Amino acid sequence: MRVLDDYDVLLADLDGTVFKGNAAIDGAREALAGRDVMYITNNASRAPGQVADHLRHLDFTVEDTQVVTSAQAACTLADEILTEKSVPVSGRRAYVVGARSFRELATEAGFDVVDSADELPHVVLHGHSPENGWAQLSEAALSIRAGAEYVASNLDTTLPSERGFLVGNGSLVAAVVSATGVTPRSAGKPLPEMFRRAVTTSGARRPLAVGDRLDTDIAGGNAAGIDTLCVLTGVATHTELLRTEFRPTFIAANLRDHLDGWSACLERDRVVVSSGETGPLPVMSAEAVAAAAPVVWREIDEGRDPEVAAAVGDDAAAAALEGWR
Ligand SMILES: [Mg+2]
Repeated sequence: MRVLDDYDVLLADLDGTVFKGNAAIDGAREALAGRDVMYITNNASRAPGQVADHLRHLDFTVEDTQVVTSAQAACTLADEILTEKSVPVSGRRAYVVGARSFRELATEAGFDVVDSADELPHVVLHGHSPENGWAQLSEAALSIRAGAEYVASNLDTTLPSERGFLVGNGSLVAAVVSATGVTPRSAGKPLPEMFRRAVTTSGARRPLAVGDRLDTDIAGGNAAGIDTLCVLTGVATHTELLRTEFRPTFIAANLRDHLDGWSACLERDRVVVSSGETGPLPVMSAEAVAAAAPVVWREIDEGRDPEVAAAVGDDAAAAALEGWR
């Protein structure tokens, strides 16, 4: 897709953008080949090296250092909070609710990782792991009640899987919040921390954030002041894009495909879409929403709520709108 050529580094989300479980998403490999890419994931359950291994297994060319996880960002955030609180750097203790790789990251970041609230950790770091259970949540609650800062890798309440939405980190964080009354600071998207880290690491001067979720990827890119591309290969739907408060700079069916010539204009109180080049239905549907969205957003900002319709006799535009989710 030509629009990618205007940016020097892509800050790409993973699940729903680049792969879905064990399969690469159509167009992602071709579109990313030969480009500078940083991969940015809210999932704290796997170390950057494990994420990179998974990408290589799917035939992406990637170094471990091109992956930024919310577990890394949480360590950075915890560091900043403790510095603000004037806790000396040496001897900072952390209790980690999360995967072994998160504990290792915390150790690498200079924390003394402890196993019990009795050791009075300065901070509780909380990220997803399938092993997290009542015992760890209780240690976290005891630590927080005893004065530990509370930092979550991310607050996604659900975890997409091939079987549907599983219980995400945010849902287990909610249990600790319920028990302590303390709300954590979160490092993951939509907070801008991971984007900043990726920009610094890569030396990007004109980065583009790419993702499939409006309330994390696009909201996070917007918060970091970075242009954004929403791909329709994951969570976001066409109709959601028209009504969202998290508006992307660009919309596309996937990372590779673009059709020229699609347009939309306001006719009385309706937004009318006209087709340009034709192609596969999912790509036409994305081009139709990419054309309609800016016109719809302008109307919404003026306090109106327009319908979207295909131009009279334009069969390709009609089919594209029929294909909207
Ligand atoms: Mg995603």
